[in-house]
Amino acid sequence: MPDVVVAGAGPTGLLTAFELERAGLDVLVLERDAEQATQSKALALQPRSVEVLADRGLLPAIEPSVQAKLPAGHFSGLPIGYADLPTRFPYQLGVEQAHVAAAIEARLRTPVVRDAAVTAVSQDDEGVTVTAGRRTHRAGWLVAADGGHSTVRTLLGAAFPGTSARVSLVVADVTLSAKPAGVADGWQLPSQGSGYLLPLSGGRFRTVVFGEEQQRLGRDEPVTAGEVQRALTAAHGPGILVGEVLWASRFGDASRQLERYRHGRVLFAGDAAHIHLPVGGQGLNLGLQDAVNLGWKLAATIRGTAPDGLLDSYHDERHPIAARVLVSTRAQAVLGVPDPDAAAVRAVFTELLAVPEARRAVAMELSGLGITYPGTTGRATGVPAAPDGRAVLVGATVPAGWAGRVEGRLGAAPRLVRPDGYVAWHGGPGLEDALHRWFGLPAPEKP
Ligand SMILES: Cc1cc2nc3c(=O)[nH]c(=O)nc-3n(C[C@H](O)[C@H](O)[C@H](O)COP(=O)(O)OP(=O)(O)OC[C@H]3O[C@@H](n4cnc5c(N)ncnc54)[C@H](O)[C@@H]3O)c2cc1C
Repeated sequence: MPDVVVAGAGPTGLLTAFELERAGLDVLVLERDAEQATQSKALALQPRSVEVLADRGLLPAIEPSVQAKLPAGHFSGLPIGYADLPTRFPYQLGVEQAHVAAAIEARLRTPVVRDAAVTAVSQDDEGVTVTAGRRTHRAGWLVAADGGHSTVRTLLGAAFPGTSARVSLVVADVTLSAKPAGVADGWQLPSQGSGYLLPLSGGRFRTVVFGEEQQRLGRDEPVTAGEVQRALTAAHGPGILVGEVLWASRFGDASRQLERYRHGRVLFAGDAAHIHLPVGGQGLNLGLQDAVNLGWKLAATIRGTAPDGLLDSYHDERHPIAARVLVSTRAQAVLGVPDPDAAAVRAVFTELLAVPEARRAVAMELSGLGITYPGTTGRATGVPAAPDGRAVLVGATVPAGWAGRVEGRLGAAPRLVRPDGYVAWHGGPGLEDALHRWFGLPAPEKP
């Protein structure tokens, strides 16, 4: 019997499984789709996600697929420079989400079980029972990372308050048989308005369109080459000719968040826990940070070493972060509305962003580098994660009884770093308190 079943092999589910396996647990990942994803919704990783992947040794496998290092993020299309951010990676990595997921999946001990859509879930005091296809699995815990339309969320009747979509957009990967010079010649930040075009590898182009036609058509209406052609002609003129639509999907600006990320022995992460307009490149990054926050807490809970309340701190720490992203993406959506009032707000906002402090505050938020959690002093830089998921104590002796949970390292700046990379103590008094707060009681001394 696995310790944990993870529903969904998107980036969030895969990184959660990676974190749990790293900590020595047995994990079963159940994925609805029969094949590994080759299409990507997200095309960019924010600096904090790049740090997290680098610290876990996952970046080298992603790097060959990187198409661009974007020196800025954007807020509703307004460039937000990253050059002065306090990180080794002061840029967004332009890389298709499918490559990120594949790199994580390649490092899992237990292969993902595909063609295995979760259809039923029940739980009792001892564990969870999960049905996928004709098979029923028993495990101690379930992590629901089954995306924005989460089946597990529906099965549990979990409250998912927020607003429904009011605008409809199409994302499509297409080939072009002709395009005007200067259009989609390189990676650039999304411009305001429908018809954004970006070159992907292999002669494909990514576009996002949201004209009147998209508002008229139903959410389940197939996207045709004609529809994309009309939208791109409207944006770029008659010189652009769509060849084939390779992949397309409709999406909207629905904005919702689970009231509680934990429902007994079921924990929600990624899009299963929060959805919003994908503007500013936040969703994938939120999911990856959920995964690294949850992984070590669930592992310690399963091993029986977690202090009281540690697992619930996953909700307490991560819910406000996603709530803030929902505020940010709602604001970005308003700035993008094509009417004079929104244009006036956009003009004022653009002026404000010329103030370095304002630009930096927005950059720290979008990049994920500004995240802190209560009881921590922000992320540790230059402290790679321990390969076995232990915490790391730099520049101080690991006190007796803690070696199983804390790896000691030499270093000039003393720090106790949680397994998700956040500093729980930084020298001076309080080391024992921090150890107890995050890692429970020390192991008894061997006689
Ligand atoms: C057009 C667009 C552009 C975007 N661009 C960006 C960007 O640039 N940067 C960014 O950070 N984010 C972006 N996002 C958001 C980002 O793609 C998502 O936030 C991200 O995919 C969330 O990952 P996830 O693993 O939580 O969910 P998903 O990627 O949706 O993965 C969920 C997985 O669960 C599987 N599944 C579903 N139901 C079941 C079931 N019943 N049983 C088992 N498995 C199941 C699915 O097949 C899927 O593999 C974008 C989104 C869109 C739509």
